[in-house]
Amino acid sequence: MKNNVTVVCGGGGFIGGHLVADLRRQGIGPIRSVDIKTFDHWYQKFDGVENVVLDLGDKAACDQAMQGASVVYNLAADMGGMGFIENNKALCMLSVLINTHLLMAAKTAGVDRFFYASSACVYNGSKQTDPSITGLKEEDAYPALPEDGYGWEKLFSERMCRHFREDYGIKTRVARYHNVYGPEGTWDGGREKAPAAVCRKVIAAKLAGKHEIEIWGDGNQTRSFMYVDDCLKGTQMLTHSDYVEPINIGSSEKVSINQLVDIVESIAGIKLKRNYKLDAPKGVNGRNSDNTLIQKVFGWEPSIPLRTGMERTYAWIYDQMVSQAKSK
Ligand code: NAD
Repeated sequence: MKNNVTVVCGGGGFIGGHLVADLRRQGIGPIRSVDIKTFDHWYQKFDGVENVVLDLGDKAACDQAMQGASVVYNLAADMGGMGFIENNKALCMLSVLINTHLLMAAKTAGVDRFFYASSACVYNGSKQTDPSITGLKEEDAYPALPEDGYGWEKLFSERMCRHFREDYGIKTRVARYHNVYGPEGTWDGGREKAPAAVCRKVIAAKLAGKHEIEIWGDGNQTRSFMYVDDCLKGTQMLTHSDYVEPINIGSSEKVSINQLVDIVESIAGIKLKRNYKLDAPKGVNGRNSDNTLIQKVFGWEPSIPLRTGMERTYAWIYDQMVSQAKSK
């Protein structure tokens, strides 16, 4: 079979769905989008794309997914926000089966390029104790002390990608994403991340007229958040480049969780009483992306302002919540 298919693994998920949309916009095809979820749970599903439901933890399913593939984006993982990854370490680590079996199947199928979505959770925890952190550089992943469970799986899978490249010649590329957000993603149910969770809580307070919000931790922990369009651009740029080492793809616009809430309050046009839940999962104290390397390699870095991206995300979650309330 001719190897010309672009395969998006995790295509029913948040980033995967946006990636399929973007590939279609560019006229790239044929595209195969694969996810374990039944179609009614996919965030985005398109005509003209080969949509397939498969459990990519299974080797035979990976062989099927890789048939005729030339470019593979592995965005499939059992994951979620802090609340999910701190309480589901074994499940997070089992995603190792997805990347391992995909790499093995990609090798057999003669895949040319293989992208792997790693995470800022691979970085050494001891470098993230201070909220005033300037930024994590790529070398800060070693000596290894990643986020327990999820981060260890990501770090191990990064190295699988390295060795499949070195030993078998598959052009593996690895991005360390820093908190990606946007519409068409998880906003409730326990797997949502801070930007979506804050939008949902502010909208719920606004709709109910009960002007209070629960914040996990003391709100002083810092992060950066990357709008999904920047993520797509960086992902494709890296995949088709000659750069072989893991690289940060993240925004360097650092904010505290309190500042994130300020932004969403101002979009909603309300002020809320803040109740801090100090025993809730809150992750590391400080995390930001150092973009020196991506600037040097690509002359580019994610730059969509947080306020702009949050306006789009808020509007989408607002519509979801209103239409859900109407259908009840
Ligand atoms: P997501 O949960 O929306 O998408 C992941 C998709 O993978 C889901 O649709 C899920 O059903 C699918 N999946 C899980 N197990 C599978 C299996 N066995 N077989 C087939 N499909 C399976 O998450 P996302 O935010 O789109 O993240 C995509 C990738 O980027 C993941 O690898 C994630 O770890 C990584 N990442 C995301 C962020 C972020 O902030 N969103 C940050 C760092 C890294």
